[in-house]
Amino acid sequence: MTVAYLSIGSNIGDRLEHLVEAVRALHFRDEVEVLSVSSIYETAPVGYTDQADFLNVTVCVETIARAFDLLEICQEIERELGRVRAIRWGPRTVDLDILLYGVDNIEAENLVVPHPRMHERAFVLIPLLEIAPTIAHPATGKLFSEEFAVQDGGVILWKKVDGVGHFLQLKG
Ligand code: ATP
Ligand code: CA
Ligand code: CA
Repeated sequence: MTVAYLSIGSNIGDRLEHLVEAVRALHFRDEVEVLSVSSIYETAPVGYTDQADFLNVTVCVETIARAFDLLEICQEIERELGRVRAIRWGPRTVDLDILLYGVDNIEAENLVVPHPRMHERAFVLIPLLEIAPTIAHPATGKLFSEEFAVQDGGVILWKKVDGVGHFLQLKG
């Protein structure tokens, strides 16, 4: 069993419904147990900025799936929720990224873990630190809370979440 952290974002249509559906899909996978979910945060887009604001959460899971199978599960859920991929960093129904997979460091063509851009993204770090305040980077041993210079980066608390059960009952 490995504890992993995922980042989930949506900026098209019923964003809350997409996040809830994604976590519900994880919850129903035999290989995955959802241990905790952060509050929901809203952020203006980075990269390609001509698009709607994102809602983001970080989810902690325990899984028997290997990292590459967990990526496959994430991509299946993206497909189930009708993600249309057009522009890199562009709008999407839902995006599931693996932030951390245990203390593994993976550098494959289709999977890099820890996620290579996580430490520079407030919309990833703020929800991650909410559910895992003392977590460290597996390669450097540095606490993410130190790495992150406590800038809010335009990240707004959109809805406070009180446990996985509460999250799964949220409606858009
Ligand atoms: P970013 O990675 O900067 O957040 P993105 O999420 O918009 O960008 P995608 O188009 O969703 O990028 O994914 C591109 C590819 O990234 C995927 O096909 C996947 O193979 C690869 N990838 C590499 N590392 C990871 C990871 N840790 N989690 C999810 N996908 C990853
Ligand atoms: Ca992403
Ligand atoms: Ca992605």
